[in-house]
Amino acid sequence: MEGKVCKSCRIVIAHGDKCPLCGSADLTNKWSNYTIMLNAEKSDLAKKLGIKINSTFAITIKA
Ligand SMILES: [Zn+2]
Repeated sequence: MEGKVCKSCRIVIAHGDKCPLCGSADLTNKWSNYTIMLNAEKSDLAKKLGIKINSTFAITIKA
């Protein structure tokens, strides 16, 4: 899985230097494990991670 991850909302960003969700430029490529959220409003993991939209999110951010 390629891409950068927004440190504040964990979304995986394939292109660009800015988070499409929160507009943050604080991205990292040091992450591992990801989940593809298809049912964010019903998922316990989504609640735990604070995810509200369906997209790809990193589980572990290393830096
Ligand atoms: Zn963000």
